[in-house]
Amino acid sequence: MGKIAFEKFESSFTILNPFNDFAPELHTVEVRKDPLTGDTSVYNPYLRDKAKAFFGQNDEELLRKLVEESAGSCIFCGENAHQKTARYPDSLLPGGRMEQGEAVLFANLFSLAPHHPVIVLSKAHFLRPSQFSPPLLADGFQAARIFLNDIYQQDVTLAFATVNCNYLLPAGASLVHPHMQMLVTPVPYSYHARLLNGSTEYLLQRGTYYFADFLEEEMRANERYIVKHGAWHWLTAFSPLGSNEIMAIHEEEGDLGKITVRDLRELSEGISRVLGLIEGLGHLSFNFSLYSARGGETIGFRCLFKIVTRQNFCANYRNDDYFLQKMLQSELIFTLPEDLAIDARKAFA
Ligand SMILES: [Zn+2]
Repeated sequence: MGKIAFEKFESSFTILNPFNDFAPELHTVEVRKDPLTGDTSVYNPYLRDKAKAFFGQNDEELLRKLVEESAGSCIFCGENAHQKTARYPDSLLPGGRMEQGEAVLFANLFSLAPHHPVIVLSKAHFLRPSQFSPPLLADGFQAARIFLNDIYQQDVTLAFATVNCNYLLPAGASLVHPHMQMLVTPVPYSYHARLLNGSTEYLLQRGTYYFADFLEEEMRANERYIVKHGAWHWLTAFSPLGSNEIMAIHEEEGDLGKITVRDLRELSEGISRVLGLIEGLGHLSFNFSLYSARGGETIGFRCLFKIVTRQNFCANYRNDDYFLQKMLQSELIFTLPEDLAIDARKAFA
């Protein structure tokens, strides 16, 4: 057995299908456990062909209306981001806002932490996933990194940072305009804490670093490993957090504050390719997070980026976050991570 346990449990059962004259049908369900957090996900091959029915198809006309109607009052559009958005006091951020290429960082009116800036990525009000270009993303992450290092100097208790994105309404975005949000806190929020606690426990039990061992195993197995692009290892998740999860792990650094401009550019190139892939798979809406921990290297934590796709945008859509995700904190797998990795390798080729 390798260093990392990729546990899965299979169960079989029979149902009598009313759409097939109540003929007996043998079903198999596979439950997978994330090797770090223990989070479960479930795969039923019968659902494989039902992904289209579950996620719907994007309604282009409805989307056009949403984009058009929301553009008129958008405070992130064009010069508005520089003029109409909330500012930080000069003592925290001289000038109140920060510009980096097209990106503009400013204070969130509805903050979830003392340091919760919004980072508008583009002057354009709407982008298709494939239009999130590497420079747009890299400038956004660079603004986040500069802000993070500034506030690190002002407050030594700040250690846990995430850079997050909800894209479009089904992903929880209240505004259409492409933007990210960074949270910097003295306490890690739940999932972030589970990643860090898992890394610490692994180190205490094994005496080695989880992410180093994990990458070694994934590269050797070559089932979910996609590619190394610059300093980042890209792969699909054995037990995904959401649909079509793809992640990137930095080769050594755990703190966004120490990631170089070049590494951010390479991460952005990868994200841009993944966004092109998910658009090609028929998705529009997504969430992503980049997790960082100051001093994370002491427990072998690595900067980790995760992206998942969400429900497509159409009228009367079903929410993809139901009891399984919300109350049981499990996820349903439609496309096997091993199959997604095959498509992703082509996207990076
Ligand atoms: Zn806008």
